[in-house]
Amino acid sequence: MRPRVLVPADPRLPRTAPEGTEAVVVGGGIAGTSAAVVLAERGVSVTLLEAAPTLGGRLGAWPHTLPDGTEQVVEHGFHAFFRHYETWRAVLRRADPELGFLRPVGGYPVISRQWPPEDLTGLPAAPPLNLLALFARSPSLGLRDLTGSDRALAAELLAYDREATTAGFDAMPAAEFLSGLGMSDRANAMLFEAFARSFFCNPAGMSAAELIAMFHYYFLGNPAGIGFDAPSTDHLTCIWQPLAAYLGKHSAQVRTQARVVGISPAEGHRWRVEVADGTALDTAHLVLALDPGALRGLLEASPRAAAVAPRLAAAARSLQVAPPFAVTRLWLDRDVAAERPTFCAVSREPTLDSVTVYSRLERPSAEWAARTGGSVVELHSYSCTAPDVTTATDRMRAELAALWPETTDARVVHLQQRMEATAPAFPPGGAGTAPTVTGQARGIRVAGDFVDTPVLSGLMERAAVTGVLAANDVLGEVGAGPEEIRGVPQRGLLAGLLRRRG
Ligand SMILES: Cc1cc2nc3c(=O)[nH]c(=O)nc-3n(C[C@H](O)[C@H](O)[C@H](O)COP(=O)(O)OP(=O)(O)OC[C@H]3O[C@@H](n4cnc5c(N)ncnc54)[C@H](O)[C@@H]3O)c2cc1C
Repeated sequence: MRPRVLVPADPRLPRTAPEGTEAVVVGGGIAGTSAAVVLAERGVSVTLLEAAPTLGGRLGAWPHTLPDGTEQVVEHGFHAFFRHYETWRAVLRRADPELGFLRPVGGYPVISRQWPPEDLTGLPAAPPLNLLALFARSPSLGLRDLTGSDRALAAELLAYDREATTAGFDAMPAAEFLSGLGMSDRANAMLFEAFARSFFCNPAGMSAAELIAMFHYYFLGNPAGIGFDAPSTDHLTCIWQPLAAYLGKHSAQVRTQARVVGISPAEGHRWRVEVADGTALDTAHLVLALDPGALRGLLEASPRAAAVAPRLAAAARSLQVAPPFAVTRLWLDRDVAAERPTFCAVSREPTLDSVTVYSRLERPSAEWAARTGGSVVELHSYSCTAPDVTTATDRMRAELAALWPETTDARVVHLQQRMEATAPAFPPGGAGTAPTVTGQARGIRVAGDFVDTPVLSGLMERAAVTGVLAANDVLGEVGAGPEEIRGVPQRGLLAGLLRRRG
């Protein structure tokens, strides 16, 4: 289950693109920045256009002044940087070759009101031992959950194979697959539901094929299991400022507050990219690295592009955005109990899905807490059903108080809350409808965590992988060699056996 080379470099081809090669990347999240980094390193003259004032997209961060005058960078929300994120980590090494800003957080506990906590980390490296260990060592699961389950269905978890899994399970909702497994309610809640919800979807609205793929990717198909690290300071300081400086050093132009409002075909098989400030750029190589709703909106606003790129327009039209997520950061007047984990997932609460004690995670929050005697706690709700962000915060606070009673009377010194819908949905029956990186339209590549790619990966890593694949396609077109891409084994242990048996 060791990581392997999925896209090899080609030493026979030149590393550098021919002089005069240029490209425009739209969207400065992980996908766009990864594409821009690889292209700029290879001598391509890159312009990166980002609508927001800072790079980062859903991993973005920006300065914020607390009521007591403290300057603090706040961000979109806690992110787990999994150890098998080969491509994203390789991009991050451009910011810090040692990745010294990443620190282990200590486990992936899942907590609930009903059952004792589970920790999903620290499993043996190889399947099926990791699956067996997960059940055998657990205080609440137990091997009977495996033996009593529908074996044929359970085997599917160990038998991921892109084609066969998609054919067999894409149309089925993840919730139906999970109930078909026949595991106890506790096993479902503490293991699978919490896991499925971390992809921003309700198990009822997610394809079972995607769940099986992600189970292989995060649990069974890599030696790090679900082990992860997190930055020891804010994302602006440790990721986005260094990556912007790195791009500058490689002569890339990074334009923030540059919202692209339309694209259209231009002379000589080029694309015109129109920016909201009235400027426009023509390019032979366009990388669209937007969130799914923004890509859909851009194609709707670009009828001439849609007319000459019908495949891209159709794929963009079919994109579905996941229900909103809410992120609320609380600055509390007191600490939470000493035994609380730095990060935990939450199972079976109507609103709350995860809790992160930021004052135990990152330096700026730790300093604020040390100075004031308080704590900084972040609450997440995925696939959030609250009608507005204030209600979401109220509900998450009440649910937190039920789980961690010491927070009931804590005074909120300050709060930051946001609710938005920018994550992709992976609905049942959606396979084959999302855009692919290449082949959508001449000169256009698409990158982002929703893009259909044969390289199995998830979330931040999928964004980075598609960004590098987009850059590779540009490099290939101008005769330069590809960037190596490494990743997890693309099939599960039992894939061959199960498929042979039919
Ligand atoms: C709260 C939260 C927690 C998460 N936790 C994790 C985690 O623990 N682990 C993990 O791996 N992933 C996690 N994710 C998912 C991860 O953040 C995303 O998968 C990843 O950041 C997506 O990157 P992207 O580049 O594809 O898209 P985005 O980050 O959405 O980037 C798209 C960019 O395009 C820009 N844009 C949009 N329209 C325009 C326009 N017209 N012109 C110019 N620019 C435009 C946007 O401003 C944005 O910067 C989490 C996400 C959230 C929201």
